[in-house]
Amino acid sequence: MTITAGPRTATADPVAHNYNPLPVVVAHGEGAWVRDVEGRRYLDLLAGYSALNFGHCHPALTAAAHRQLDRVTLTARAFGNDQLEPFCAELAALLGRETVLPMNTGAEAVESGIKVARKWGYEVKGVLPGQARIVVAAGSFHGRTTTIVGFSTDPEAREGFGPFTPGFDVVPYGDAEALRAAIGPDTVAVLIEPIQGEAGVVVPPAGYLAAVRSACDEAGILFVSDEVQAGLGRTGHLLATRAAGVEADVYLLGKALGGGIVPLSAVVADAAVLEVLRPGQHGSTFGGNPLACAVGRAVVTLLADGTLLERARTLGPVLGEGLAGMVGHGAAAVRGTGLWAGIDVAPGSRPDAGREVCEQMLRRGFLVKDTHGATIRLSPPLVITEDELRAALDALGRILAARA
Ligand SMILES: *Cc1c(COP(=O)(O)O)cnc(C)c1O
Repeated sequence: MTITAGPRTATADPVAHNYNPLPVVVAHGEGAWVRDVEGRRYLDLLAGYSALNFGHCHPALTAAAHRQLDRVTLTARAFGNDQLEPFCAELAALLGRETVLPMNTGAEAVESGIKVARKWGYEVKGVLPGQARIVVAAGSFHGRTTTIVGFSTDPEAREGFGPFTPGFDVVPYGDAEALRAAIGPDTVAVLIEPIQGEAGVVVPPAGYLAAVRSACDEAGILFVSDEVQAGLGRTGHLLATRAAGVEADVYLLGKALGGGIVPLSAVVADAAVLEVLRPGQHGSTFGGNPLACAVGRAVVTLLADGTLLERARTLGPVLGEGLAGMVGHGAAAVRGTGLWAGIDVAPGSRPDAGREVCEQMLRRGFLVKDTHGATIRLSPPLVITEDELRAALDALGRILAARA
């Protein structure tokens, strides 16, 4: 059978319209800065949603990638490669855990975490086949696969994509009592973000993560922390859960793990959890490939050095104080921790206030991105300087104040 292309329209765009990017076309990036195709410079305050925590083209990371490009890039897991075991060992040591399951995208880490939790529930907890349930939070963002969007509460993310995978119970985020009440005999895990990034950098009330930990302990189930965006430096700490004094059983990592160079994600846990996966039961063609692992090792080295985490902790208050002054002057509310903040623009008459502010910031040479209409998320690369951050805050403050 031959499939012929349909009639072409003059307006057809070769790029599918699943995004609505701001009008800038980037051609070059270095540190916290990018340059567009016309040579204009912009300070990047999004950092690839935290995938670029170390900035664009960090020399230690590109060097690791270049070295590996000339050696070997892919073997598939049918064969061993000399970067896989060191990467897993180094990442496990960094996080004080035993075992690493490497995947590629964040959504795959989440999917893998769900599979591990279910299998652990059947094999270790003794849940009857096909009955496992996982408690998740409203407002979450865990990726775009059909299973994940099935338990999303964002209509845009789910509508039109059903039927969905059963087995998830959604509770309000930040409400430990509701979470505790949703745990039943067939519950195998709680899966939450320690801070909800895509929702607008929603930080849960103090004590929430500790209460989730005790609820999981009492029920004998797994606490799965999706640190794909919150982890690896964004908050000034390796793990946002641990920064709150809480240990999860399973950590899901992605975004910054690949250094902004390659997609690299991981499930990190102790062997007692990850050993439920045996050969043939789970996999990925690109998972654990030597190029990604070589970059991941360089990322682990940067994180272990601690300088960039320290910088996020030092600059976090500068960001927080700068934004606090905007409340009532064009901002309805601000939230955040480390180099990570959400700003609710006082919407006035327009529902797309966030987008308008982003376009104004773009014209002044700053890349920022709105989320959910009237919210702006700031997640600058951790290599940003204090002067650069202050310049960005100054521009944002003026733009917001002019709207008030
Ligand atoms: C971005 C994100 C994901 C999905 O990562 P992809 O690489 O886009 O699949 C999952 N969880 C959280 C918390 C995220 O922020």
